Amino acid sequence: MIWEESSLFKNAVKQLDRAAAIMNLDPNVLTRLHTPKRALIVSVPVRMDDGHIEVFEGYRVHHNMSLGPAKGGIRYHPDVNLSEVSGLAMLMTFKCSLMSLPLGGAKGGIRVDPGRLSRTELQRMTRRYTTEIMPFIGPEKDVPAPDVGTNAQVMAWIVDTYSQIKGYSVPGVVTGKPIEIGGSLGRVEATGRGVVYTLIEAAKFKNMPLDERTTVVIQGFGNVGSAAAKKISKIGCKVVAVSDVSGGIYNKNGLDLDHLNDFLAKNKVLKGYPEAEFVTNAELLELPCDILIAAAMEGQITEANANNIKAKIIAEGANGPTTDNADEILFDRGVHVIPDILANAGGVTVSYFEWVQGLQQLFWSEKEVNNKLWDIMSNTYGKVQNIAIDKKCSMRTAALISSVDHLSKAMLLRGFFP
Ligand code: GLU
Repeated sequence: MIWEESSLFKNAVKQLDRAAAIMNLDPNVLTRLHTPKRALIVSVPVRMDDGHIEVFEGYRVHHNMSLGPAKGGIRYHPDVNLSEVSGLAMLMTFKCSLMSLPLGGAKGGIRVDPGRLSRTELQRMTRRYTTEIMPFIGPEKDVPAPDVGTNAQVMAWIVDTYSQIKGYSVPGVVTGKPIEIGGSLGRVEATGRGVVYTLIEAAKFKNMPLDERTTVVIQGFGNVGSAAAKKISKIGCKVVAVSDVSGGIYNKNGLDLDHLNDFLAKNKVLKGYPEAEFVTNAELLELPCDILIAAAMEGQITEANANNIKAKIIAEGANGPTTDNADEILFDRGVHVIPDILANAGGVTVSYFEWVQGLQQLFWSEKEVNNKLWDIMSNTYGKVQNIAIDKKCSMRTAALISSVDHLSKAMLLRGFFP
């Protein structure tokens, strides 16, 4: 089938199959989870600023809705395609179930380089995409959120477009909104913060100190990577290298994040930062360090570099950064990998908090949000760690076992229709 083509989708299926074999999953449930529930492909015509029209391809995929409305981000990136979005939707199903959220899995995206579009073009594209996926989304059906290449402003345009067409305000149609229109405090930093929460638990397990002796390398310095960098350096660890599309920067004595952020505000990209040496994105992954946070894109840690990675703990801030073959190499080498559906689940967890706050029209303090996030992340980490010890499997397989066990019970209770 067409949605099976990407390596991300194939990887997600392999991970599922491995967990299913260990847990003796009902074969009917396994078959059902192998493919999404439904997928929508849309054309998104946009009048560009110079008057001509460009047509972009957009998608929204629902993987599973047994636990509740579908949930997952919208990605604007030139590599977006139906199969990638389908694989990411599958990962959202597993992520929401793992965190015991009453939500299913979805993902959407447009095949576009958003950096090439002006603000007005981006707004027109977002509004048209919203109208095209209107039948798929809604607070009780499917609730999108930011992902790679989208942000709170894009969510605000979606809320406005959806509300204009409905004739009344529907802020609950997305999460990750600006605070002013019903967003949650702590949502922007939630994914990066959650990554660090899982690292705190992993460090305890590995008896690794988290202080000035601990070196951290971060691939990707976008929303997830930069928030994780801020939080982990606040704890006292030394961030020695970070990267973005322009490449990586490395200073073995530690990077001054305030200085780096000032530089980025002016220069937009990391390349040219004077207080560090330049490294390629590939070199960055192999730098000496205790912790590696993979917060860029999928398929970064492969069988070509898995043997050269020096980190003792890897936290997957991105979705699908490690290929299946690399996973096996890392497991055999004793590298502790905190899988994506656990490490980066802070984002969707605070999305859930945002959705709940909006439904009640009762908003929580940032401290309340962060405390609740900590409870869910640390409890889930503990649950996964225990399964990994018990079954002598990787943290990824353990996370899938926990997730699919919960999900399969819901699927079997509901039964198959008709
Ligand atoms: N895009 C994020 C993820 O991959 C967040 C999704 C959400 O908040 O719905 O988990």
